[in-house]
Amino acid sequence: MPEKPLIDYDAYRDHIGTVDDTGKRRWVYPKKPSGRFHNKRVWVSMAFLTALFVGPFLKYDDLPLFLFNILERKFIIFGVTFWPQDFHLFALAMVTFMVFIVLFTVVFGRVFCGWVCPQTVFMEMVFRKIEYLIEGDANKQRKLAKAPWDVDKTLKRILKYSIFAAIAFLIGNLVMAYMIGIDELQKIVTEGPGENMGKFTFVLLFSGIFFFVFSYLREQACIAICPYGRLQGVLLDKDSIVVAYDNVRGEPRAHLRKKETREAGDCVDCKLCVQVCPTGIDIRDGTQLECVNCTACIDACDNIMDKVGFDRGLIRYASRNNIDKGLKFRFTPRIIAYSVVLLGLISILGFSLSTRSDVEMTLLRTKGVPYQEVDDGYIANLFNLQIVNKTRNGYDLSFKVLSPEGGRTRIVGNKLSMQSQGITKGAIFIEFDKKTLEETKIPIVLGVFAGDTLLDKVETTFRGPLKIKYD
Ligand code: SF4
Ligand code: SF4
Repeated sequence: MPEKPLIDYDAYRDHIGTVDDTGKRRWVYPKKPSGRFHNKRVWVSMAFLTALFVGPFLKYDDLPLFLFNILERKFIIFGVTFWPQDFHLFALAMVTFMVFIVLFTVVFGRVFCGWVCPQTVFMEMVFRKIEYLIEGDANKQRKLAKAPWDVDKTLKRILKYSIFAAIAFLIGNLVMAYMIGIDELQKIVTEGPGENMGKFTFVLLFSGIFFFVFSYLREQACIAICPYGRLQGVLLDKDSIVVAYDNVRGEPRAHLRKKETREAGDCVDCKLCVQVCPTGIDIRDGTQLECVNCTACIDACDNIMDKVGFDRGLIRYASRNNIDKGLKFRFTPRIIAYSVVLLGLISILGFSLSTRSDVEMTLLRTKGVPYQEVDDGYIANLFNLQIVNKTRNGYDLSFKVLSPEGGRTRIVGNKLSMQSQGITKGAIFIEFDKKTLEETKIPIVLGVFAGDTLLDKVETTFRGPLKIKYD
């Protein structure tokens, strides 16, 4: 039987780093990160947060630049409005986005998570920084957690959670601003929550969720909940560029001793890379599901390499093939295949967007009313109609039976007008002279006009009295 190794390097595969042997959660106290990657991430995060908070205030032609109104199923992306009728376009855009994410991940791993995922940015660059300010670095935090509830601990915790709650409330408002628009949100503020109880409840609900996520759930959101994180196992391959430990150069790891003629690898086993990790893993075990590519371990290792006089980059952005075989980045068949699919989807999406109709009419026969006879010998069918105006122009509408000839229309209520970017609902009679009706069911085409301009047309069937044929 092979002898069991002293250190079981494969043990990490049996459990996640934040769960202990008894199955309890192991709270992570990551050491404050510092270094060139961290500095860059601070700048990127500042730009990202600025864009995120400015976003709801940006308008184009008096409409928000971005709106994700899930309740009314109305979405505005870069000033282009998508209605429920554009669902196929929205679905296509989502599929294209997913393929883009897949391709991006195949090539660059989880770089998104580390640099611009809102969860990581808020957690590491906002909430964690406040925690360091109030409670100090990892060791002090650990000490405080174990300390009895004296005045110092109580005051620190009250201060920390009050600030966390205020920021969570701010994020809750931000999410609502993207969902209902900044004007509606301002209404809640100016008119008071009592007048807008439904919407205010949502603000409180989102704020509560964010407070829970950033105070308690933390890295578990990335490890156990985020579907993107769970996909890494199938998306990454040996050519994907990830935050990786160069085990070829680093192993066998050994502490550095004075006056040593070093035969070991470059890893001096200082464990700083483990101490800074916000997901509680040891990157030296290899690429793991928990790693959000936050680069904290790269900085920690580079700092120690500088101190001991070794080259930087023992932990770095690299692919497995780069570390094991020295291979540079190359276009693999997988990348080429995904790129072709992505290009195809982008082309279809571009074509669909450019040929999208500005006005869309839906016509439905009114239930329980097959047809009626009108005084002057005409047969009338009643239809309910709904017209979506995706443009910013208002229209007075008129209708015409385009085919077959001889049909006439009568709007219930005499007039139908459309507001900019609005939905108009109404009813309309379509009528044919009884004498001209040769069939019980005839296919017809109805057009909707603004002046002489045909906006949209729909096909439907017109029903008349039963035709009984005698031999
Ligand atoms: S292993 Fe490194 S890059 Fe991955 S989460 Fe931990 S510190 Fe961040
Ligand atoms: S920081 Fe670098 S040298 Fe220190 S244990 Fe991690 S990999 Fe080894």
